[in-house]
Amino acid sequence: MSSRTIVLTDALYEYMLSVSLREPGVLRRLREETAKMAQHNMQISPEQGQFMALLVELTGASKCLEIGTFTGYSALSVALALPGDGRIVACDISEEFTSLAKPYWREAGVAGKIDLRLGPALETLDALIAGGEGGAFDFAFIDADKVNYLGYFQRALDLVRAGGLILVDNVLWHGAVVDPSRDDEDTEAIRAFNRALADDPRISLSLVPIGDGLTLARKR
Ligand code: SAM
Ligand code: CA
Repeated sequence: MSSRTIVLTDALYEYMLSVSLREPGVLRRLREETAKMAQHNMQISPEQGQFMALLVELTGASKCLEIGTFTGYSALSVALALPGDGRIVACDISEEFTSLAKPYWREAGVAGKIDLRLGPALETLDALIAGGEGGAFDFAFIDADKVNYLGYFQRALDLVRAGGLILVDNVLWHGAVVDPSRDDEDTEAIRAFNRALADDPRISLSLVPIGDGLTLARKR
């Protein structure tokens, strides 16, 4: 028994995957194609995709928001868990990255559920708010540029209904958050973001050490 979270060795991580990962073939192939890219580390891990899909099922979410889509793995994980009339608005700035996603979304039969919005995500979110979509979303996943995390979070809090769930990725930033020699913009932004959420009375909070650290915030 233990009173703290277990440290995952490589062997334990492999074991965990061997007894729990159920990655559909289409997601595996998208992961394999993304692995050929220099930026492949931006993709969430497969067990995180499965966890997020389970959260979608548990919360009964049907209207979702994603900020940072890249080659579409997390959006596809969420879309596959949505009900027939479910939708995900997926925000990214890169035509190049997101064009890789589309054949996989089609192959999985969920292309019609994924509404890709290309452009700076702060602008896309402001347009959604201005268009009266405040409180219309059940679930949001924040995984774009780290310096804008607080801006994305404030807007996601507007867009998600009371009781809705906001997930925020990379909140442990490969351990850099506790490395005193790291004072780059991204690391400082994530530290400031984590500190801000720690005392935010508008949410119930849990930081889950899956992937690179995933914050779960339920809007009160
Ligand atoms: N969630 C994705 C996945 O699991 O595969 C990974 C997202 S990746 C970490 C971050 C993405 O944010 C990149 O695709 C990048 O193009 C996008 N991005 C960076 N700055 C952005 C901005 N200002 N607005 C919208 N998207 C942005
Ligand atoms: Ca990420």
